[in-house]
Amino acid sequence: MAIVYVALGSNEGDKSAQLLQAVEEMKVFFNVRCLSTIIESDPQGLATSQAVFCNAVAEIETDLDPMQVLQKLLEIEEKMGRRMEEKGQGLPRSIDLDVLSYEDQVIDTTRLSVPHPRMTQRQFVLGPLAQINPNWVHPIEKKNVEELLNELGHEAY
Ligand code: AMP
Repeated sequence: MAIVYVALGSNEGDKSAQLLQAVEEMKVFFNVRCLSTIIESDPQGLATSQAVFCNAVAEIETDLDPMQVLQKLLEIEEKMGRRMEEKGQGLPRSIDLDVLSYEDQVIDTTRLSVPHPRMTQRQFVLGPLAQINPNWVHPIEKKNVEELLNELGHEAY
């Protein structure tokens, strides 16, 4: 069994309800062990002109391999109505599910990068992750979540 952290985000429609629905959908495939609180965050990067986001992080346990986990998350996004042409465009999204980590594996393929390449710059990821497991060590940075969060200059939620 592998422990995997998943980032959830939404900035369209009933955002927190969609995050909670995504958690219910994840329970079909994974053992969802823990969910952070849902936080609100200002849009960043491509999305700066859009509505605020709701974000959360879930800890799941699974026998599936990393690509299978990604595939299930993409299926959930599609089932929940995320338009595939939205992907990678920085457009408003009903639901966005990202694999943050898969144990301490480092994966860098065209379809999957783990740990998620932008997680160390994202307070809306590190904050909720710190609620669940501040001691998880980033396998490339060799720093735990609390240290990464402090480097961003913010306190954990
Ligand atoms: P988006 O949902 O717009 O963030 O883009 C998702 C696409 O990024 C997927 O189709 C994946 O193939 C790719 N991707 C690469 N690494 C990851 C990851 N760690 N988690 C989720 N998607 C990833």
